[in-house]
Amino acid sequence: MRFRRFGKTGLTTSTFTMGGMRFLPPRVNEEQMAAVVQRGLDLGINHIETARGYGPSEELLGKIMHTLPREELIITTKIAPTDTEEEMWRFINESLERMKVSCIDNFDYHGINTWEILEKYKRPDGCRRAVERARNQGLIRHVGFSTHGPLEVIMATINTEEFESVNLHYYYFNQRNRPAVDRAAELDMGVFIISPADKGGQLFNPPARLMELTRPLHPLVFNARWLLGLHPHVHTLSFGPSFVEEFEPHLPAFDDDAPFRPEEQEILNRLDRQWAILGAEKCTFCWDCLPCPETINIPEVLRLRNLAVAFDMTDFGKYRYKMFEAAGHWFPGNKADKCTKCGDCLPRCPEKLDIPKLLFDTHDRLSTEEVGKRLFDKE
Ligand code: SF4
Ligand code: SF4
Repeated sequence: MRFRRFGKTGLTTSTFTMGGMRFLPPRVNEEQMAAVVQRGLDLGINHIETARGYGPSEELLGKIMHTLPREELIITTKIAPTDTEEEMWRFINESLERMKVSCIDNFDYHGINTWEILEKYKRPDGCRRAVERARNQGLIRHVGFSTHGPLEVIMATINTEEFESVNLHYYYFNQRNRPAVDRAAELDMGVFIISPADKGGQLFNPPARLMELTRPLHPLVFNARWLLGLHPHVHTLSFGPSFVEEFEPHLPAFDDDAPFRPEEQEILNRLDRQWAILGAEKCTFCWDCLPCPETINIPEVLRLRNLAVAFDMTDFGKYRYKMFEAAGHWFPGNKADKCTKCGDCLPRCPEKLDIPKLLFDTHDRLSTEEVGKRLFDKE
């Protein structure tokens, strides 16, 4: 395992972090979780991340806490901004009690995804007072935030200069947040990437075309190398194993902290050339087309189309597409078939794309039978 300084927190984090979002009974019981965590520790991981919003995950972690080398670990947990100081104070203490720890090494405000949530965080007499009180009392050591929000919200949150780290989406297949990663680096913030294996393209289950393009590396390993080898200011990548065997495909990246190699650059060049398959139908993910009166998340819909057409990543596209209309501010927007062909977006697209046609095509490709409201993992 390799380690990086987690920005201005001064913590030294392993370059891989065990995410607790899948420590969920009955799929994962206490015994399985203990085995998974032990395997991670044996491999050198020193950072475990969970959240109040991950169901019983904190509690399960607490059940095995007495078996862990607590002083050697970084424990991150996340709590969404609350309406009141009192509520946040109660939630912080409940997290401490559930995890059976006396302090949270790294506390993240969970899901600063919208301007409204950012404003809730900013209220001077609100939840931040509880976090400051906990910090003053030694119950919290460092404070960051996690986000699934649009780049503008992320930049505004970073630019408050009130956070020591950021936990966000950034992958080869989704580079929209690059300016946020760069700005965080300028401010010496810790940069923690949300689940590159899953949100970065379900790379643990890659299509044959993608396997071929990244050969001889597994797409999982390539993506991790792209993040860590090309971005010294990215410090740690989360992944959420449920079973011991799930570590296996990641292992070649665990001990590799070298700068990007020429042979890896060749893979990157192959991937970059592959986008040409999209021809004049390539959405460049510039986001200029928004807003849409039907609140269709046009860029994200067409990003999923790009990946399905150019890289055969249809299963990933279906997995994400069915979250539209079901995941609130974690993955906002209506499905593409809600387009009324009003034409508002067309003059704003620099690529002159026929957006309605591409939206309906995406819906045909990616909508599934089991459309409907469903529970999803809040990362
Ligand atoms: S044409 Fe469709 S996607 Fe474009 S703004 Fe109108 S409803 Fe939205
Ligand atoms: S403006 Fe065009 S290229 Fe840009 S995100 Fe929207 S559809 Fe894609």
